[in-house]
Amino acid sequence: MSLLVAHELYRFFHTGEDETFALRGVSLCLSPGEFVALMGPSGSGKSTLLSCLTGLDEPDGGHVEVCGMRLTRQSEAVRARIRATSFGILLQSGNLFAHLNVSQNIHLQMQLADKADRARVGQLLEMVGLQHRAHSYVLQLSGGEMARAGLAVALAADPPILVADEPTAEVDADTESRLISHFETRRRNGLTTLLATHSSALARKADRIIRLHDGRVEGD
Ligand code: ADP
Ligand code: MG
Repeated sequence: MSLLVAHELYRFFHTGEDETFALRGVSLCLSPGEFVALMGPSGSGKSTLLSCLTGLDEPDGGHVEVCGMRLTRQSEAVRARIRATSFGILLQSGNLFAHLNVSQNIHLQMQLADKADRARVGQLLEMVGLQHRAHSYVLQLSGGEMARAGLAVALAADPPILVADEPTAEVDADTESRLISHFETRRRNGLTTLLATHSSALARKADRIIRLHDGRVEGD
């Protein structure tokens, strides 16, 4: 059974007279429990693809299905509901609410998915190495701390599909290895993980690697 399916996604951007072809017919299929690395040079379309897969952006062509439900060209209310129940999402920035501290951000994410669990907030903070930052606000965090807090938020509800854009770009080697073991636990529990990454340590642990080049999947 496929959990997440993308059919021939196209995404174009126009800036003045310039046209960028960010996605040129990308198809993929993820199964429950799969751990997949999305790789490719900067500008190859990784972030655009992750935004389209999670319904944060609309492709100009093609569509996405999550658990057999169409995500593309639905109302924002429908997309938001599918996002809250199916996805944990880590973007490259903007993952935290500025008026909530780190613990409250994590707890809110659990509440949105009906999985509030205060004890687990502490475990997540420990995993990303941020116990000492539980009560800090976004403006008090360094770039790396913000990224780790965002990851704890994305993982908060044990989402069926974790979609993370360069989750280990700003973490130290110890945190990276704790995260890798968490991704492996997710796999054992039948949860799906899709990570855009430049880390070969991370990609080596994946079940497979999808390589993007110039908005296309290599080998397609
Ligand atoms: P990656 O994440 O692999 O670095 P991106 O998906 O961010 O690649 O970008 C793919 C291409 O689309 C790049 O050429 C980028 O400049 C362009 N692009 C992405 N988002 C926008 C946007 N909002 N407006 C214009 N161009 C964009
Ligand atoms: Mg990117």
